[in-house]
This record gives sequence, structure tokens and C-alpha cells, in this order.
Amino acid sequence: MFTITKSEIGWNFDNSYVRLPKEFYSEVNPTPVNEPELVIFNKYVAESLGLDVRGLLEGGVEVFAGNKIPNGAKPIAQSYAGHQFGHFTMLGDGRAVLLGEQITPTGERFDIQLKGAGRTPYSRGGDGRAAIGPMLREYIISEAMHGLRIPTTRSLAVVTTGEPIYRETVLPGAILTRIASSHIRVGTFQFITGLGKREELKLLADYTIRRHYPEIKDDDKPYLALLREVINRQAALLAKWQLVGFIHGVMNTDNMAISGETIDYGPCAFMDTYDPGTVFSSIDTGGRYAYGNQPYIGGWNLARFAESLLPLLDENEKKALQLAQDEITKYNGIYRDNWLNGMRAKLGLFNQEEEDKELIEELLELMKTNSLDYTNTFAALTFDHLDGIMMCNKNEFENWLQKWKERQSRQKKSETKIKELMRSSNPAVIPRNHRVEAALEVAAEGDYSVMGKLLEVLKDPYAHSPEQAEYAKPPEPSNKPYQTFCGT
Ligand code: AMP
Ligand code: MG
Repeated sequence: MFTITKSEIGWNFDNSYVRLPKEFYSEVNPTPVNEPELVIFNKYVAESLGLDVRGLLEGGVEVFAGNKIPNGAKPIAQSYAGHQFGHFTMLGDGRAVLLGEQITPTGERFDIQLKGAGRTPYSRGGDGRAAIGPMLREYIISEAMHGLRIPTTRSLAVVTTGEPIYRETVLPGAILTRIASSHIRVGTFQFITGLGKREELKLLADYTIRRHYPEIKDDDKPYLALLREVINRQAALLAKWQLVGFIHGVMNTDNMAISGETIDYGPCAFMDTYDPGTVFSSIDTGGRYAYGNQPYIGGWNLARFAESLLPLLDENEKKALQLAQDEITKYNGIYRDNWLNGMRAKLGLFNQEEEDKELIEELLELMKTNSLDYTNTFAALTFDHLDGIMMCNKNEFENWLQKWKERQSRQKKSETKIKELMRSSNPAVIPRNHRVEAALEVAAEGDYSVMGKLLEVLKDPYAHSPEQAEYAKPPEPSNKPYQTFCGT
């Protein structure tokens, strides 16, 4: 039989994480499955990793299922802790196995992780498995986020396992192969600080700096610089989420990556009608992770990160606390600047004026009171299709439009340049919930064509192509609010 050799596939592992102390992981192999079947495969991601597409299509399923460990991989489950809905818990990869770190032809390093690969020492009461719906959902949303140019983990493949998963109902089991620049989380730092291990904390911080922030390694105060840089990246990420109406849904500290990538797509969803109070997750009954609350929670999580770094910031506890607080208080301003600049771009504004914030807030208020679709309002402004959004409160809208046009004309930029900026800042499509659900519904019965078409239009949401028009439509009004469920 045709066998695939290492060089044909291109696996090129270097597993630096296992060189950290043993507290940070447990060696564990994925649990083999009966009848794996490859249901979706991302050739673009494979190519960027330096992997052979044809070879993976032929024999990759065994690797993606955890039945075969590629040469050079050293499978582990990572330990971490986390504040889940505000409560601190020791966790760890309960259903994910990290195969190793793939070094790409351009020298980049990416974690290759199998999610849903079986039990690990951190599984607690769980079965270590995942159902097909949530794994395909992560595949779709993470790839859509990439298309929207938002830092994110990516998806290489989903396989079904041929084994049933027992939840409220019996569901087909599946495994997602996830690619991340790393899986180091705020919760990884909380875990080691929680154990009171200062030396190991220092090793983790040094490792993180080498891997994600090499430019600060010679800083006078490298750990304070790490805190500052993570705040910068997270503030930028949170602003990007808000600008496209993305709701993560479960922003626990174990789901916040130190790299600044969006990670752990569970009950996430995109907002259709603009409303800061939007919550989709069935378990978020208090609205902790509501759309409008996300930036605040980002800051809350970063304060937990700062706390976990305290032992490294200064020997004097009081001084360490002061240093941490000084950085954390900057978060709000950094977030706001990122968000304001993003909104300016959405409105075709190149420069900054003091009154921009007011102009933007007035628009959002109009969108809220008139229950307008968030994405399509900006698209309508981009293409001057104003009829739809002018239906209610005509006078108020006209006043606002006039103010906006005057503001645009003060910046001495051509209409073409303004439109270009708006086109590239306002997506034509987002993965709308009704479209994602429709794709997942038929996928559960073995038809992946709907999902394939959806992924195609989401590849470049800023293309504004004719094929995207149909996917830009908001859902029919429904009397049942849309709800998402955790992927467990
Ligand atoms: P999540 O809400 O997906 O971020 O997961 C929170 C924690 O629960 C993590 O430690 C997961 O590894 C763990 N977990 C989630 N689902 C399962 C499962 N089916 N079996 C074991 N552990 C799980
Ligand atoms: Mg998680």
C-alpha cells in the first residue's frame, strides 16, 4: 500500500513547550478512534504550514484523528487554570492534545492541536470528546475571522470519528485540528502563580517573551514590558471584535491567548441587529460576556494576568502592585483609541478630530433605537444605499448624514479615497447565525456543500462581490432569540 513518508508530508516539528518544567503539561497520546473520515480540509492553511496537500488528503485523516502520530511530534496536554464566569478553577486541556510545534518553511512556529482527541489527566468528569456541530462551527468562525483580518487560531481539518458522543442527545463525534501561534493563555500564568512556583513562572514568562515578544527580551524590566505588550495586543483585538460585531461568548481567562489571537470558539456568534446588550450564549444568563461588556471584561482578564505576574515585577510587593496598576489603567485608553480609529476608518475618516467620538456614538444610538443591522448599516453608508436605513427617524438621520458629510469634506481626501477606505473597513459579509446554522444542519447529515459555499464567500469579506449579496441578508424576523450552546 502507498505509504506517506515524512518528507512527502512536510511535518517539521520542534517541540519547545516540552522543554518547560513538567508542571506545564502531561505527556498523553490521543485516543485512537474507530472509523475516522475527513470531512473538511483547509489546503491554504496546509500550504502555509509547509505541508503537502495531496499527501494529507490521502493519508492525513489518520493524523487528524489521532490514530497516527506524525514523526517528530510529542503529544501533550497543557495545564492551565482560569476564571470561569469570575470563579477561579484549575483546568488544563481536558479534550485537546497538542501534537507539537510545526516550523514552517519561513521559520514560523505553530501549535498543531487536536481538539476532541480523548481523555487527558485534566478531563475531570468529561469524556475528552467533541461533537461535530461545535467543531465545524469553530472551523467556520475561525476562518471567517481570518478573512476579516482579525488575529485568530485557524483550522486545518475536521474529521468525524465514527463514534457517538453522549450529550443531551447522541451526536456524531468529531476532532478539529487547530493551528495557533501558541496556546499560552492568561490561565497558564494563573496556574503556575497559583501553585506558588516563582522560578517556573519566570521560565514561562521568559519562554513567552522569546516566542511572542522577542523585541522586549533586552528590556530593563522585561516582565513589565510583557504585561504592557499583552495589554496592547488584547486592546487591539477587543477593538477589532467590537468593530465587526463579534461576540466571543465565553471570555474566561483560560480563553484569552497571550499571543493576542482569538481562541476557543464555543458559543460565539456575530450580532445582526445592533444592540450592546446582545448575548447569544445560553449559559451567560447574567450577560457578563454581552457584546457591550466585552471591552470591560478584556480589561478584567488583563488585571488577572497582571496579578499573576506580580512576583516577577518587583521584590517589593507594594511596588509590584503599583507597577501593575499603572499599566492596567492604560488599557481603557488604548482600547478606546483602537476602537475610535477603527470606527473612523469605517466612516471614511483618515484624520482625527475631537468630536469624532460624538459623531460615532450618535450613529450607534440611531442604529440602536431603530433596530438596524450593524454590518449592513455600514455597508449602506459605504455604497450610498441609504433608503433602507432612512426609513425611521428620517430627520434625525438626515441631520447625522449632513454632519458626517461635512466632517468628511474637512479632511481634503478625494471621494474615491474615502470610498476605498470604507470598502476595506466594512465587510460585505459576516458568518450570520442563520447561515451558520443552515450549514451545520445539513452537515450533520453528511452534506458539506452548504458549508463549503459559505466558507467561500467568507474568505474575503471585503471583496463586495456579487456572490456575497445573498449572504449579506439579515435573518427573517423571528420571535425566538438566537441562542448558542457551549461546545462541550
Ligand atoms: P471551554 O469552555 O471549552 O473553554 O473548556 C473549559 C474546560 O473544560 C477546559 O479545561 C476543557 O479542556 C474542559 N472540557 C471541555 N469539554 C470537555 C470534555 N468533553 N471532556 C473533558 N474536558 C472538557
Ligand atoms: Mg477553553
